[in-house]
Amino acid sequence: MSQALAILKDVFGYHAFRGRQAEIIDHVATGGDCLVLMPTGGGKSLCYQIPALLRQRAGDGVGIVVSPLIALMQDQVAALTEAGVRAAVLNSTLTGAEASAVERDLLAGRIEILYVAPERLMTPRFLDLLERTRVGLFAIDEAHCVSQWGHDFRPEYIQLSVLHERFPYVPRIALTATADALTRDEIVERLALHDARIFISSFDRPNIRYRIVEKDNARQQLLAFIKAEHTAADGTHDSGIVYCLSRKKVEDTAQWLSGHGINALAYHAGMDAQVRQHHQARFRVEEGLVMVATIAFGMGIDKPDVRFVAHLDLPKSMEGYYQETGRAGRDGLPANAWMAYGLGDVVQQKRMIDESEADEAFKRVSSAKLDALLGLCETAGCRRQRILAYFNEASEPCGNCDTCLEPPATWDGTREAQMALSCVYRTAQASRIHFGATHLIDVLRGNASEKIKQWGHDKVSTFGIGKDRSVHEWHTVFRQLIAQGLLMIDHGGHGALLLGERAREVLKGERQIILRRQAARPGKSGERAARGTRTDHTADMDAATLANWEALRRWRTEAAREHGVPAYVIFHDATLAELARTAPDSLSAMQGIPGIGASKLERYGQGILDTLRGT
Ligand code: ADP
Ligand code: ZN
Repeated sequence: MSQALAILKDVFGYHAFRGRQAEIIDHVATGGDCLVLMPTGGGKSLCYQIPALLRQRAGDGVGIVVSPLIALMQDQVAALTEAGVRAAVLNSTLTGAEASAVERDLLAGRIEILYVAPERLMTPRFLDLLERTRVGLFAIDEAHCVSQWGHDFRPEYIQLSVLHERFPYVPRIALTATADALTRDEIVERLALHDARIFISSFDRPNIRYRIVEKDNARQQLLAFIKAEHTAADGTHDSGIVYCLSRKKVEDTAQWLSGHGINALAYHAGMDAQVRQHHQARFRVEEGLVMVATIAFGMGIDKPDVRFVAHLDLPKSMEGYYQETGRAGRDGLPANAWMAYGLGDVVQQKRMIDESEADEAFKRVSSAKLDALLGLCETAGCRRQRILAYFNEASEPCGNCDTCLEPPATWDGTREAQMALSCVYRTAQASRIHFGATHLIDVLRGNASEKIKQWGHDKVSTFGIGKDRSVHEWHTVFRQLIAQGLLMIDHGGHGALLLGERAREVLKGERQIILRRQAARPGKSGERAARGTRTDHTADMDAATLANWEALRRWRTEAAREHGVPAYVIFHDATLAELARTAPDSLSAMQGIPGIGASKLERYGQGILDTLRGT
């Protein structure tokens, strides 16, 4: 194990293993198979890179890494090369001559770690090539791509079980950030990993701060959020991702943000492929870009310094929400997951489920998933605890989510719940059909509109009984009743509300209803929440440190351009911040800083010293 630690320090510049890394590395380096479940940003790469280096250096042969994502492979290889590892990639972006050169290096034993696209790996030609060389291990990254149920399914991944048949003595390590048991079982089954050890890490991402605000004017709220929490004094802003449901909304939002001083780009499946790729490439390489996207964007983005993920629409499920928000803060520095949501989102998602072509069983599952997410939005308890519980992980209140930081007041809403439920009952009784929240609120508030008179709802007993509460207050009541399952949204897509099974208990006064008190005006509460909870890691820097930081960032941009790699491949923000703080005045003083291994010290040490001396 001391050898593994030496590589960790020397090559990667880190001092200690994280979580279960040491165990996993030991297991694989000594020839064991395993399946690793670790959240995004948990540090999966080292789990196969270090055993690959250990085994290669012991003469066992090259480490082969299967990855479905071209951009990601290239980044990994660039980062390894910067760290002094002999790494290479074989995928469709290479010319014939380039590919031949890699193959020659492979046969000559000159490559330590080789990244290969699955379709390339599975060609008879390449498998033969592997038989003529020595293979030290197979790493199968993004192993959930074998799952036909997930949206990342890759047919070629299923064939990967062949590896075990043809190379039975080569250890295999499969890795994924997808947590659910179903996917896990599928990976074991399809990759024939029955005898493999399974390493499950906590799926908590403690550096991400979860926040869900009530939707008021979502775009304005988003802009205020970015300005308040992710914009530096000089007007530049952090990298972030904004998710929207529809292509049109993606485009409108990107344009609107651009018009308000935010460097924003659009990304969705309906765009011209070239433009889309160009946007993705820019996001990867440039700093301070906001990508407004549908969920089509994200897989293959392992940009470590995404400082926020914002949702302008409700995702479909907790799985989706967690995967998308997980793209923030891979580097372990503070990051925000921010979402604006309202009743309209729930109705819209419900409608999409109803109108889909799927069978009833699938629709039921989809509805249940949506309900779980709704529960998260309306909880008065810790968001993180709720999310982790959904993934079967017990935890304590986290202290780093909106409800922990500013516990919402609760109130006894039994009377209001009774009014609302009874209004649903009475109006349906009067007209034999069900109505949506807006109409019901009009009835409760005694708003004698044409529509109300037409249905005779000005005659029902609940007409006007809720006058003393505002439309906004009633909306929060209805949302929470839906989240608690006391009201259900009817099939058919119009947002009509039906009584839930247990509504009767409330109507009969057998059950007390505690509701979360919403802020008086959502916009303002967003701003208030922003103060004092900034996650910006430059916030606590003094003037000298800040000057160093800015100079180092300029230097890094230049170095990245010279080497043709994204800035974070040179150094992560965390390393740069530590350099700015400690301002080392010699190469040896730089040695202990996390993220600076031997190769990077040699390559960049002098540049850093010069930069720091210049400030
Ligand atoms: P994943 O693939 O699980 O999303 P990565 O392998 O990209 O995560 O690691 C996330 C970040 O954590 C990377 O920036 C990596 O350099 C860093 N990291 C991983 N292991 C360690 C460690 N033991 N000490 C310090 N940083 C680490
Ligand atoms: Zn919390």
